[in-house]
Amino acid sequence: MFNALVLHEEDGRTVPQIESLDEHRLPTGDVLIDIEYSSLNYKDALAITGKCRIIREFPFVPGIDLAGIVAESSNPDHPVGSRVVLTGWGVGERHWGGMAQRARVKSEWLTPLPAGLDTRKAMIVGTAGLTAMLCVMTLQETGIQPDSGRVLVTGATGGVGSLAIALLHQLGYEITAVTGKTTAREYLRQLGASEIVSREEMATTAKPLESQRWAGVVDTAGGAILARALAETQYGGCIAACGLAADYRLETTVMPFILRNVSLRGVDSVYCPAPRRADAWSRLATLLPASLYDELATEIPLARVGDAAGSMMAGQIQGRILVNLRT
Ligand code: NDP
Repeated sequence: MFNALVLHEEDGRTVPQIESLDEHRLPTGDVLIDIEYSSLNYKDALAITGKCRIIREFPFVPGIDLAGIVAESSNPDHPVGSRVVLTGWGVGERHWGGMAQRARVKSEWLTPLPAGLDTRKAMIVGTAGLTAMLCVMTLQETGIQPDSGRVLVTGATGGVGSLAIALLHQLGYEITAVTGKTTAREYLRQLGASEIVSREEMATTAKPLESQRWAGVVDTAGGAILARALAETQYGGCIAACGLAADYRLETTVMPFILRNVSLRGVDSVYCPAPRRADAWSRLATLLPASLYDELATEIPLARVGDAAGSMMAGQIQGRILVNLRT
């Protein structure tokens, strides 16, 4: 038997509760994992609060991230006792996920933990950190170097935003952070942001072209914030767009593209191919300083995930929520 956070649907509402489950309830897969840590991401918060219809079949175990030890395996690439990390691939959306002490999954979804990361650190990074790394790689591949100019990071105190700032800082970029939290200045400066812009200012309607301010942008917000970022991106600059914390819509013009050679690149972590994913994880393992992990993470037990999901939907979370499944 193992403990899991199980989502039920009652009168159209999503109701989370901790339950003790038998292993035979787990979905099919060729690897069984003893999960040590999971983490709470924006998509999990949407699923757990039922704010967005992410989950189609109930009862369901959410959690798009998990890291643990292989307990049973029919794939020699992931032998019993090895440590693995899993993010995305529809786990926690269509396949039972990481908010449990055990998971059965497909071995092709697993990434062996790279040297330098244990399961705890891997889940402080989680989907948010992987996405941040993929955004940074996208900017690098478009030729945005530290001497190209400032990089703007939106939703800065969130999981993706915090890790994007930390990674860009390690790589030597000058960073401007956009935040809606007036109390977060010290936190953002410690992560590596040298300038802070209010979310309110960034969300004002932009002209088709504004003064050129950013060589690169990591955008987690969408909507008016992304529209303004596009209008303010300098000639040849690039925006890595990964989120919709403000709005899934985007009202803009072609001007930044045709007059400033700006590129808008989408970033998805869920179905990111395995080789690029492994590359991103090994870069994360070497880039992030040891001191950063505890600065970023708030650790909670499974029993507090429901409340934390509510706080995340209210935009009150700073950094990453680590879920300890060992207690
Ligand atoms: P978090 O909840 O940790 O952070 C989101 C941050 O966005 C908040 O902390 C807040 O930061 C800011 N924010 C909140 N509400 C608004 C608003 N109304 N307008 C503007 N900014 C707002 O989420 P994550 O960092 O995990 O995810 C961020 C976004 O990226 C989400 O939309 C998520 O769905 C997406 N995402 C996409 C992935 C992909 O593969 N493409 C993977 C992971 C996440 P502050 O207070 O500092 O402004």
